[in-house]
This record gives sequence, structure tokens and C-alpha cells, in this order.
Amino acid sequence: MTIKSIERIIAPPPPHMVGDGFRVHGFLPGDGRLGKHRMSPFFMLDYASLVEFSPTDTPRGVGVHPHRGFETVTIAYKGRIAHHDSAGHHGIIGEGDVQWMTAASGLLHKEYHEESFSKQGGPFQMVQIWVNLPAKHKMDPPAYQEITHENMGKHRLPNEQGVVEVIAGNFQGTKGPAHTFTPIEMYNLKLKAGTNLTLNLPAAYNTALLIIEGSAIVNSEKAPADHFILFQQDGEQIQISAEQDAVILVLSGEPINEPIAAYGPFLMNQWSEIEQAIQDFNTGKFGVLED
Ligand code: MN
Repeated sequence: MTIKSIERIIAPPPPHMVGDGFRVHGFLPGDGRLGKHRMSPFFMLDYASLVEFSPTDTPRGVGVHPHRGFETVTIAYKGRIAHHDSAGHHGIIGEGDVQWMTAASGLLHKEYHEESFSKQGGPFQMVQIWVNLPAKHKMDPPAYQEITHENMGKHRLPNEQGVVEVIAGNFQGTKGPAHTFTPIEMYNLKLKAGTNLTLNLPAAYNTALLIIEGSAIVNSEKAPADHFILFQQDGEQIQISAEQDAVILVLSGEPINEPIAAYGPFLMNQWSEIEQAIQDFNTGKFGVLED
């Protein structure tokens, strides 16, 4: 086993608003230095770092919009998000929960702060990742996986040092509930200060950490809160030592080596497929959803 070298430690880029509910740092596809293939199968990563929302009777969020060709994975760390889509799914992503939505051939959805959270206000922190689909699954029917905190795989570390919550993949024999179309490892590490943990992930996978809370030493480099740690494809081992109580999102996946044509909410292989998606959207083929 050799160490997976750190390629870059990326500070959070200046935030922008998605609708009026999501103040996000766009780590992926990034500032031009991280290309659209660099973290394949993960295409986009929007990180809503911790922010306090004031109470309101009108839930903040993003109105009806389409997606085609990929999956949206939403992880709620603080606050609650409500979701409706034109395939008839409705859900609430509570604190600690994950929603894994396979848009595939296409749907309309809207994403809002959940009503009682909006009325109360409070701390809000979440991540949304766009997971690309291989060409042969881009036009599959839409699907929806509600991954509650309760049904995640949990690998407890000895001496109450923390827990590895497995969303997808397999950490030392503990499996995550998510069905994925390509091999993906996705975990939340919740580590007490002073805990050391070693991850073993395939060298050929694209791998990164996002420090959600606290700080850690990763392969002898300092990894502060809200930073994105990108690894090279040169080894298997990542050594993590929590400096404070820390929450760390682990993303690792086998690259999909296919062309990417990306436009707004569509992620396809060829431009002709983007044109088709726009035409299908304009002619109502993504279904109906009220705003
Ligand atoms: Mn969306």
C-alpha cells in the first residue's frame, strides 16, 4: 500500500446563491483548473457552508427546474430540505439524511427549506453532488432513494472515537445502502479530537475529502474546515488525524471515461443530446410540476 498524494487543498471559492435558499461554494467543476472530468463520476459539488437563516413564512429555495443524464445527491448536515418531483416523489431530507435522486431520462423538481424549519429559522449546512451516469443508463427511468441517517451503514471506531457512516460502497465490511450505477465510495467520518483513521481506496479512483466541521491533519498536511482535499491517482492510503472533533465527507469513485456535454441542468455525452433535452423540456416531455 502506498500513500495517495494530495494534489491540492482548495479553500472555499466565494459563495453564490442558488435560488434564495442555498448559499453555495462551487468546488466542482471548479475554477477552470479542475476540469469537468477531474472528479468523474462526480461532476458538480455545491457546498452550502454553515449559515444562519432568519425565520420566514415563505420557504426559501429553488423553483421548478429539470434535470437529465445524472443523479443529484443531497446531504443535509444542518436544517431540513423539502423536495417534490414530477415523478410523484416527495420527501423531507432531515438533519443527517441523504436523498439520492436518479434524474436519468429526466424530471422536474423543486428544492426548498422544509416548512417548519423555515418558520423557525436556524443553522443550515448541506452538500449537493451531481453524480454522472454512464451513457447506457442516462435514459433510464427516474428513481429516488431516501437514505435516512438510521439506515446508513455504521462502522463504530473503538473506544468511542467516532463512527464511519457509509452512504455508498463498503468501509471495512460495513456496506452503504445506496444503489449506484458505477463503483462509488461515499462516507461521513465523524471523528473525536485525536482520532487517527486510515482509508484505503483504489488508486485509480478519483478521490477527495470535504472538511465539513473541525479540522484534521491529512497525510501530514493541515486540512481546515470548509476546505476540499483533492488526491492524485497514485496510491491507496489516506491517513487522517482529527485535530478537533471533525466531520469529513469522503468521495471516491471509478472514473467514467466517456465524453461530457454539459449545459445547465443537463449532463449528456454529445451536444445533439443536449439539444434534444432542451427540445423535450420545451415540449413538456419532462412532466408537470406546480411551482
Ligand atoms: Mn435540482
